[in-house]
Amino acid sequence: MKTIQVDLGEKSYPIHIGEEIMIHFPDMLGRVSSRSVSLLVSDELVFSLYGPTVLDILRGAGYRVEAAVIKGGESCKNLTTLDWLYEQMIICGLDRSSTVFALGGGVVGDLAGFAAASYMRGVGYIQLPTSLLAQVDSSVGGKTGVNLPRGKNLVGAFYQPGLVLADVSLLHTLAEKEYLTGLAEVIKYGVIWDTAFFEYLETNLASIKTRDTECLIHIVERCCAIKAEIVSQDEKETGIRALLNLGHTFGHAFEALTGYEQFTHGEAVAIGMVCAARLAKNIGMLTAAEAIRITELINNYGLPVDYGNLSADAIVERMRSDKKNTAGQISLVLPAAIGQSQVCTGISDEQIKAVLK
Ligand code: NAD
Repeated sequence: MKTIQVDLGEKSYPIHIGEEIMIHFPDMLGRVSSRSVSLLVSDELVFSLYGPTVLDILRGAGYRVEAAVIKGGESCKNLTTLDWLYEQMIICGLDRSSTVFALGGGVVGDLAGFAAASYMRGVGYIQLPTSLLAQVDSSVGGKTGVNLPRGKNLVGAFYQPGLVLADVSLLHTLAEKEYLTGLAEVIKYGVIWDTAFFEYLETNLASIKTRDTECLIHIVERCCAIKAEIVSQDEKETGIRALLNLGHTFGHAFEALTGYEQFTHGEAVAIGMVCAARLAKNIGMLTAAEAIRITELINNYGLPVDYGNLSADAIVERMRSDKKNTAGQISLVLPAAIGQSQVCTGISDEQIKAVLK
């Protein structure tokens, strides 16, 4: 088992990564009260696959755990489900010493995390990520929240988990589309931060596509280490944490303009990274050869590189309303080289439109 530490003073926590490590979970729960009731939050699909086992493991070790199972999917990451979750927390008798275990992908993690952050002004919270996206990204860094009808993740809190356990053996049941959406975020880490990791993704493509265990462990470990390093320096995203948004401003526009139905989040981010690379090349930040390498890697993993028939005007307008912008200026993360990136402002609409068809 590998362990990575997220250094945030009193809020520091470990991320444990390995194969079939769920069985050892109770040994890691030092500060979790076995007297107060805990709540395992999951979605229907993940719970049907792993819920009973996790409950058995925890109960076998003497923990009092109840379960709350949400339907699942982005459409239930909302205030209605949150309200239902609070109700379950009350019915199950959670008190201020209780802990919430989030077993699932990013939807369960974000929702359960926000419930834990706000119920009785905060109870314990542990992440058991089960999707690739959750293991490499959403379970680390403490962003929790729900969507509002007017936009994604508009209500939430920074609330760090007490620990993260990423068991890569759970990734074998993940649908191919969901695996790919996670791989888009994996590629992002290589582009923004780590040349050697980008090369690893190029060299080991075949084994990564077939979910080789050693590759999965290496990928999750490297991505978590990069995210831990970034979050440790900038917990609340006032500086370098923004680099994690590479491809996201374009991507959010593609998602929104296609009604969140045509692309998964990762697919939209993948196309967004291609656009960002093209833009960086056009303004002389990135070499043409590197822009091609980024596009080819995304394409070779089977991720889309093209957004179809959306209008360039509509894309730019949507990008202007991104919540990461300040004072009306579109703020974009662009690659300066493979393994290096920076936040750029002052990019004109014309420069953006030039990379859109
Ligand atoms: P998700 O939670 O909807 O999971 C995707 C699908 O995979 C679901 O149907 C789920 O049931 C299924 N699934 C999960 N694990 C499985 C497994 N082991 N086997 C079989 N099926 C499994 O989506 P996601 O892609 O994990 O996360 C997306 C969410 O994460 C979005 O809401 C996004 O806003 C959020 N997010 C948050 C952060 C953050 O920092 N908090 C970062 C990135 C994304």
